[in-house]
Formats: sequence, structure tokens, C-alpha cells
Amino acid sequence: MGKNWSAQDYADGILRGDRVVLGRAITLVESSLPVHRELASAILEKCLPHTGRSFRIGITGPPGVGKSSFIEAFGGKLVREHGRRLAVLAIDPSSQVSGGSILGDKTRMERLGTEPNAFIRPSPAGSSLGGVANCTHESMLLCEAAGFDTVFIETVGVGQSETAVAGMVDFFLLLLLPGAGDELQGIKRGIVEMADLIAINKADGERIELAKAAKKDYALALHLFPEKESGWLPKAVTCSALTGEGLDELWGLLVDYQAVVKGNGWFERHRTYQSFQHFQEGFKRGLYEIMLQDEETKTALANAEKMVLEGNATISQALAPILAGLSLRITR
Ligand code: GDP
Repeated sequence: MGKNWSAQDYADGILRGDRVVLGRAITLVESSLPVHRELASAILEKCLPHTGRSFRIGITGPPGVGKSSFIEAFGGKLVREHGRRLAVLAIDPSSQVSGGSILGDKTRMERLGTEPNAFIRPSPAGSSLGGVANCTHESMLLCEAAGFDTVFIETVGVGQSETAVAGMVDFFLLLLLPGAGDELQGIKRGIVEMADLIAINKADGERIELAKAAKKDYALALHLFPEKESGWLPKAVTCSALTGEGLDELWGLLVDYQAVVKGNGWFERHRTYQSFQHFQEGFKRGLYEIMLQDEETKTALANAEKMVLEGNATISQALAPILAGLSLRITR
């Protein structure tokens, strides 16, 4: 796999299910070099007819809840007992600040990483949320083309990335700890509302009763939210990544979920809606990049931003002359 590999060579490797080629292609997707982006885009184009066939699951929860232990145990079960082919990706914009990645630590998911039917990819570091989310979405498509029928997208449930994840998955799983309210766990209320399933992890040893109580509380809380468009009634369960307790039931619920949303047409509708959203975002991002290529606009935007941040202008005041100028140039 050298410098002169063509998009077709990459696509052939990916469609063969070659994980090394897949990994290299994802590196191209994550790259900011224009020549890499171009190649990545050509690879994606060739892979596109083979995408979309996986069950996409977002997994989130506060740091320490046991996300990687859960993915190791649950993912391992899916791969070993249910014959699934699993890709695990992460969205982690915080890596920019911490310098580390949530999946970057090599000791995490050690066993799963050695499974021939699993593929684990740490999050790209040092990019904006929009950039990371876009990379993750494209990486997911490549994983699907490589034959992975199940994709986990992991995020730390304390930031902004949940909305980005929700924009690319079919199912949203929230892991929580027994014996602490969501505020205490640093989880925003909106995230609880987004969940299709809440799993109270670490339901083992002395924490079993606490976990059962938490499950009851969350089941009640979920009841109070407006009904989901998907027609699925969100549920709360307990599980233990340590003992494996509850993981079979959890998979059973995921299977039920698919039957419901595929049966009522929501699955397809939701995917179409997500594509529409991605199209819009892609267009806006592209437009923005073009604008920034113009030095005059770039300087004007930086000045406007400064004025707003320093409290010397409202947003519309600061933007008005720039937008008027751009509008003139477009309509000329
Ligand atoms: P993450 O930060 O959410 O990825 O959490 P980790 O998977 O790194 O787990 C944090 C700590 O909790 C580790 O010490 C794990 O061994 C422990 N842990 C994870 N899941 C369980 C569980 O189900 N039961 C118990 N008792 N400990 C767990």
C-alpha cells in the first residue's frame, strides 16, 4: 500500500474486508491534507453502494461509568456469540484539550481488539467537533463497506457530541451509574431524553440493590417524556460489564427495537432525514471554507468576531456589512 495506491485499490481492499486497508483509508478521511481528502472522497464514492447496512448504535455515559468495559464485554459477546461483525468508533473532541483520546489508550478493549471480527478505531485528536463528527460519519461508512454489520459510536456523555452522534446512529444507549442522579454524574437532562435505552452499569456486588432502584427511577422518568417519533418506548435496565449480567437481555432489547422501527418504517425515514441533515451541514461547511479562502472576508470575519466577543457590537450588527458584501458579489 504505497503512495501510488488508487482509490480503486483502496476500495477493493475495503470491500474485501481487509482491516489494514480500512485503517489506512480512515487515516485519509481524517487527514486535513487536500490531496488526502481528495483520495478519501474518491474512495468513499466507490464504497457508497455498499454502505448503510449496519445497525448503528451510539453509546454514551459519564467518564468512569464503564463504557470501554461495557463495549469490551458486550461487543465481545456480539462477535463471539451472535456472529456479528463489529466496528467501534469514537467521537472525542475533548482530545484537543487533554491531548489524549478516549479510545487512544491501548490497554482499553484489549481482548475485543484481537477479535478477527472486531475493528476498533480511536478518535482523531485535535480537531473541532464538526470536523471529528464528519470524520466519524465517513469512517462509519467505510466500516460498513468493509462488511461490519454493527457499529458502536462512543462518546463521553458530558459534552456537545451527543447531538452529533444522534445525527448518525439508529439507536442511542446511555450508560449510567447506580446511586447518583444525572446532575451528579455530569449528565445533562437532554441526554436522558435522547436515550432509547438506559443501562445502569456496575449492577454487581454491593451495588445490585442501588442499581435496581436507579433502574426504577429512570424507568419512571422516561415515562414522563413525550412519546418518541420512532414508536419505541425507551427502557431502563441494569447490567454489569464485569460479570456480564444483563447483557443478553440488553441485546434482546436491541433486536426488539430493530423489529419495531423497521416494521413501522421509521428506520428508513430517520436515515433519510439524517442524510438530509448531513447534506445541509456539508453544504454549509463547504461554503464556509470557500469564504475563508478570501483574505478580505477572513479578516472582516475575525474583526467582527472580536467586536462581538468584546461586547462592542451585536452579532447582526457585526455581520451585516460582511453578509451584504458577500450577497452583492454572489448576485452580481
Ligand atoms: P469509561 O471511562 O466509561 O470508559 O469506564 P471504564 O470502562 O474505563 O471503567 C471505569 C472503571 O470501572 C474501571 O476500573 C472498570 O474496571 C470499572 N468497571 C467498569 N464496568 C464495571 C462493572 O460492570 N462493574 C464493576 N464493579 N466495575 C466496573
